[in-house]
Amino acid sequence: MEDTTKLTGMVFNVERYRIHDGSGIRTSLFLKGCDMACPWCSNPESQRSEKELGVHRNLCKNCGACIGACPQQAVSRAADGTVTTDRALCAACGACVHICPHEAREIYGEIMTVGEVMDGLKKDMAFFMRSGGGVTVSGGEPALQADFVRAVMRECKSECMDTALETCGLANWDAMWKCCEYCDEILFDVKTLVPVQFSRLTAGGIDTRLKALEVVKNNIRALRARDKTVIFRCVIVPGFNDDAAHIKRTADFAEETGVRQIDLLPFHQYGKHKYASLRMDYTLKDVAALPEELLEPFQKQIEQRGLTCTVGG
Ligand code: SF4
Ligand code: SF4
Repeated sequence: MEDTTKLTGMVFNVERYRIHDGSGIRTSLFLKGCDMACPWCSNPESQRSEKELGVHRNLCKNCGACIGACPQQAVSRAADGTVTTDRALCAACGACVHICPHEAREIYGEIMTVGEVMDGLKKDMAFFMRSGGGVTVSGGEPALQADFVRAVMRECKSECMDTALETCGLANWDAMWKCCEYCDEILFDVKTLVPVQFSRLTAGGIDTRLKALEVVKNNIRALRARDKTVIFRCVIVPGFNDDAAHIKRTADFAEETGVRQIDLLPFHQYGKHKYASLRMDYTLKDVAALPEELLEPFQKQIEQRGLTCTVGG
């Protein structure tokens, strides 16, 4: 087997003991980089491919320790006494993170080799064995780092670990298949299959946007044609896709492709503080989290089609 353990990827989180990213207890590997920028994204630090600095203003005491630590002179004290960071100068070196006594700074993103990832995952093998769990690769969009994902998945399978991928499917087939070849279960993040809704999530002219939706659908068709297990996961967002048309299209497409399960996830605001730490605009800040009970009619609509539907997670 070709040695790919030195291959590197940009990882922004490794989370253990997760129970909603596939069967059993799982360790999830979150990769940076995504071509979409969904307004409800709960991991905005996943969107850019490169490392970046997060500053938690609510924790900062304006002590100034980070000013002298910065080799780029990116940190300074403003006239009102607050300490500010010029992101245009910041090289995400992390020097200010280590010196801050109040944990007000963090670097999102770390380059890891496949070997380093596997060393961590092997420590969780006992939990995987006992619970029927395994490893889930998520993002961002993992397909943007397809060679790295393929190598991690292949190493996991050689260790007899269960593997799952969480993807939005907006990738060319070559990258998609690299991610899925050694994958047991694909959690397909279906934003919406209603063209007018989908076109609000992608850049470019209308033709480009509609082509993007076809790319996603064709990837699902191709995965199912190869007998891959696919589960649809739909975040239901008020004012975007909280309607019967979205549910109907998704259930129709599940039937067409032989997908047997749709998971509905209510919109929440868990990622709000991370937008602030990156000085990104959180356009849904005034949209209330959706109670799970409000998804019950959609759940019934799906179950009436003979499909399995879960809510929450
Ligand atoms: S991460 Fe490095 S370059 Fe950026 S502000 Fe901190 S010390 Fe300066
Ligand atoms: S070292 Fe930390 S607490 Fe002090 S000014 Fe910098 S970010 Fe704020």
